Amino acid sequence: MAHYQNASFLIQSQHIKFDKKYPPGTAVPDAGIYRCTGCGHEIVIANGQALPMQNQHQHAFEFGTVCWELIVCPVD
Ligand SMILES: [Zn+2]
Repeated sequence: MAHYQNASFLIQSQHIKFDKKYPPGTAVPDAGIYRCTGCGHEIVIANGQALPMQNQHQHAFEFGTVCWELIVCPVD
């Protein structure tokens, strides 16, 4: 789970971009912290970067397929 020190630097949001799920290798439209919906592993994606390919993030079988969701994004 992502950590932070000062809550005044984060704003809770209901934006639809946090509802989307992306398969491995997707060139995502938003930079930020992404979380694997299966195992909870978190990664940072910069502007223009793609999510890890299937062979770059693997987890135990019981966690199911690898899928990513945005959990924190910077504001322009
Ligand atoms: Zn995973």
